[in-house]
Amino acid sequence: MRPAIDVLNGAEFDVVVVGAGVNGASTAEQLAAAGYRVLVVDKSDFATGASSRSSRLLHCGLRYLAPGRSVFDFVRHPSRLNVALRMARQAMQARSDFVKTFPERSAPMRLHFPIYRDGQYKRWQVDFAFKLLKFLGPGDLPLDYRCLSNAEARAVPLVSGLRDFHRLDGVAAYREYQFHWPERIAIDALERAASNGAVARNYTQARMLDHDAGGWRIELTDMLSQSPPVTVRAKMTLLMAGTWIDEVARGPSAKIGRKIFGTKGCHLVVQLPPECQGIGIATYNSVGEPLYCIPWKHLHYFGPTETEYTGDLDRIHVTDEEQAGLIREANILLPGLKLKASDILMTWAGVRPLTYDPAVPFGKRSREVHDLAGDGLPDAMAMTAGPVMTHRSAGEEMAAAVRTRIGVPDPARRPLAAAPPPGMHAETLSDMMFRRTDRAWSGPVTEDELAALAGETAALLGWDEERTQRETRAFEDEWARLYRARSAE
Ligand SMILES: Cc1cc2nc3c(=O)[nH]c(=O)nc-3n(C[C@H](O)[C@H](O)[C@H](O)COP(=O)(O)OP(=O)(O)OC[C@H]3O[C@@H](n4cnc5c(N)ncnc54)[C@H](O)[C@@H]3O)c2cc1C
Repeated sequence: MRPAIDVLNGAEFDVVVVGAGVNGASTAEQLAAAGYRVLVVDKSDFATGASSRSSRLLHCGLRYLAPGRSVFDFVRHPSRLNVALRMARQAMQARSDFVKTFPERSAPMRLHFPIYRDGQYKRWQVDFAFKLLKFLGPGDLPLDYRCLSNAEARAVPLVSGLRDFHRLDGVAAYREYQFHWPERIAIDALERAASNGAVARNYTQARMLDHDAGGWRIELTDMLSQSPPVTVRAKMTLLMAGTWIDEVARGPSAKIGRKIFGTKGCHLVVQLPPECQGIGIATYNSVGEPLYCIPWKHLHYFGPTETEYTGDLDRIHVTDEEQAGLIREANILLPGLKLKASDILMTWAGVRPLTYDPAVPFGKRSREVHDLAGDGLPDAMAMTAGPVMTHRSAGEEMAAAVRTRIGVPDPARRPLAAAPPPGMHAETLSDMMFRRTDRAWSGPVTEDELAALAGETAALLGWDEERTQRETRAFEDEWARLYRARSAE
C-alpha cells in the first residue's frame, strides 16, 4: 500500500521532479545516486504519458541522415548536417548503451528499407548512410547491414509483399532494436532511485505554489483519495512533465513562454502470419513521412502518424479517420495484405513533447533543457523532446544541471527514509495490466482472462468483491476509450 500523503507534509527536498515518465524517472535515479534528497511524483501511474505511447524504437539514427528533399539540402544548410550527424551519433551511442546495459528490456529485429528506383533515396545514398552510421557508432553493436537483391528480398516473408517489386533497386536489411515495455524501464529506474532514498509517488499531482530564498513550495494532491493536499519544499523543481510542461509552468508564472509543440502519433496492432515474426519494414508513406511495420511479440504494428495535437492531453486515442488513414497506408505498402478495420486488434496514440520554436513549423526534435528563470520561475528547469532511447543521458544531463545550480549534496544530510519500491505501488487494475505486467499490450483480453487477472490482482492488493468489479469496469472503459480498434471501415 502507498503511505498516506500526509507523511510528506512539510518535508524538505533538494529536488522535486514533476513527472515520472522515462525521463523524470531517469533523472530521479541519477539525482538519488548522487546523494540528493529527491521526490518524484506523477499525477497518474508512473510512465502513463508519452513514455507508454511511443513506437518503441531504439533506432540507429538512419532517419536523421535523411536530408529534406534532396542531398543538396545538406549542402545548402551545412548546420543541418551538423545536427544530423550529432543526433545520429547520439542514437548509435544510446542503442549500444541501452542494449548492453539492459538486454532483458530490448529485443532485436530485422528491419527492411525498400529502395525504389524512382524513390526519394538512391541505393548509393543508403549504402553511404549505413557506412556513416557504422563510423559514428561505438562499433560494439553491429548494424548487420546488407542490401538484398530483389530476388533475395522476394524470399523474405512480409518483405515479399511489398508493392511494385519490379521498381525496386534492392532492399536494405539491418538490425534494429525495440524497447521491450518502456513503462517497465521507467519503473526499474524509479526502483533504483528509491533504493538510494528517493521518494516516488504515483497518482500525486504537483502544483508549484511560490518561491523564496529557500526554493519552491509545492502542493501535492493525492488523485485517488479525498485527503487534503500537502505542501513540500524543494531547492529546485524539475518539470519533466512532457506535454504537460506548459500547463504546470503556467500555474505560478503567467509570463511563461511556450515550450512544447505536441504532435500526435497513432499505431494499429495486427496479427500477421507466424513466418513474419521478428521481421519489420521501415519506409515512407504516400506523403513522404516515416512509416513502419514493426514486429511486436507475436503481433505487428503499423505507425506512426504525425499531426499537430491541441486536444485533451489525458484522453488521447486513435480516431476513426486516423485508423482509416493508417489502414490505407498499410495497404499501399503491402497491397496483398488487404487490411480492413476488422483485422485491427488494438490501437494506441500518443503525443510527442517536441520543443516549441516559432521558426520550426512542426516543433524541434532536439532534446533541450530550459532554465525557467527567464520566464519568472527561478530554480526551475524543464526538459523537452527527450525520446525514450536517450533517457539515460537525459537523466545525467539534468543531474549535471542541478549540480551547477545548487552544488553537490551535503553528505551529512541523510536521504529521507527509503520508500518501498514503487513497483509495488500498483493502485488500479489498469496499472497491473499495462505497467506491472504487459498483458494488455498483447492485444484484447477475453472476459474470462480478465476475470482471472482481476481475481489475482485482488488477492495481491487486498480488494473486496465490490472493488474488484469496479476496477474491472474501469479497465474495460479505459480500453474502449483509448485502445480498442475502431469499427468503422
Ligand atoms: C507516437 C510516438 C512515437 C514515438 N516513438 C518513439 C520511438 O520510437 N523511440 C523513442 O525513443 N521515442 C519515441 N517517442 C518519444 C517518447 O515517447 C517521448 O519523447 C518520451 O516518452 C517522453 O518522456 P517524458 O518522461 O519526457 O514524458 P512523459 O512520458 O509524457 O512523462 C511526463 C509525465 O508527467 C506527468 N505529469 C504531468 N503533469 C503533472 C503534474 N502536475 N504533477 C505530476 N505529474 C505530472 C504525466 O502524467 C506523465 O506521466 C515517441 C512518442 C510518440 C508520442
